[in-house]
Amino acid sequence: MTKILGIIGGGQLGMMIAEAAKDMPETVSKIIVLDPTKNCPAAQVGAEQIVADFKDRDAIIELSEKSDIITYEIESGDSNVLKSVEKNAEINPSPETLHIIQDKFLQKTFLKEHGIPVPEFIEISNIQDVKEGLKKFGYPALLKARRDAYDGRGNFKIDSEEMIQTAYDYFEGQKLMLEKFVPFKMEVSVIAARNTKGQIKTYPLVENIHEDNILRQTIAPARVSQEITKNAEIIASQTMDVLKGAGVFGIEMFVTQNDQIVINEIAPRVHNSGHHSLQSSKTSQFKQHLLAILGLDLGDTKLIHNTIMYNILGSKGFEGKYQPIKIENNNIFLKMYGKEISKPLRKLGHLNIVGTNDESIDQLLEKLESIKEKTIVKQSN
Ligand code: AMP
Repeated sequence: MTKILGIIGGGQLGMMIAEAAKDMPETVSKIIVLDPTKNCPAAQVGAEQIVADFKDRDAIIELSEKSDIITYEIESGDSNVLKSVEKNAEINPSPETLHIIQDKFLQKTFLKEHGIPVPEFIEISNIQDVKEGLKKFGYPALLKARRDAYDGRGNFKIDSEEMIQTAYDYFEGQKLMLEKFVPFKMEVSVIAARNTKGQIKTYPLVENIHEDNILRQTIAPARVSQEITKNAEIIASQTMDVLKGAGVFGIEMFVTQNDQIVINEIAPRVHNSGHHSLQSSKTSQFKQHLLAILGLDLGDTKLIHNTIMYNILGSKGFEGKYQPIKIENNNIFLKMYGKEISKPLRKLGHLNIVGTNDESIDQLLEKLESIKEKTIVKQSN
């Protein structure tokens, strides 16, 4: 029986889920996305769109009435509203899981209570708590917004006592937490999936390089020892064991200076560090997410080729229309998201440099260097 799939969020992640769904016409008959931007990326690839805010109660109800299954590409949906529409549509991952994950403090408390390693953290209710926390953790430490923060925009690094007031004021009354700074060796992640029948599969560990707090580059596989890989995979599977809900999850971790793994955060959705799977694996994370929420057998997650994913980000200098990015090179796969306007550091597209001819990561990095110039986003004339 075919199903109508509703997605909260119709950005690039929703777009790539919608594209994966086109290959499964016998299972998904239609996609409807809820997104505030008219003609959002998912709508451009054929999804029907409800134009409304992600938290708009009436719009979520409408989506649930029109869909058989609801999922999301962003974690800021209202989990209480979602819970209340479960009678209309199946929701995966579950609103309970979303509720825990979308609040960084609840998420870290949950992980800690289940014995999963996380950086030290405390809840912040007033500026005095920040001062106390810094006495405990030392400098630097990160003041973080508990909710609705992504791409590092909700973090303020406090390097000295003089910065406390500025950091606290920056968040203007938002709910906060303070976290000890982890001087990590590397950031890594595991994309994991669970289907509604409980089957779990994980993709190999990848390495993530951030610039300006935004993911810039993913290297698959991560350049770490087998021991670190194994440890990270064990922690990812422990996390999946305690988290409920079906779908794909992005589990971001730090490798510490003494090669331990701590979890930075979990995304209850397909994840930027899994985009390499579009070409590096038999099953992309987007297809896997559909298989998971539809209760079908999960696909093969083996890494077939070394691959580097490089994000195309809006240049810092301008906001407006931009010149098309063109890269014609064997085994480089460019994916633009159809966003008309560039903004500083906005995710406009990505490319996957695939080691189809058994190239090493170093060779792929050289290839990336040779075409980087062409990825710079320039204002159109
Ligand atoms: P977040 O949005 O909290 O995932 O943070 C975005 C980025 O900030 C991460 O990918 C890290 O590069 C950095 N970051 C977050 N938390 C910490 C921490 N406790 N110690 C060091 N860096 C961090």
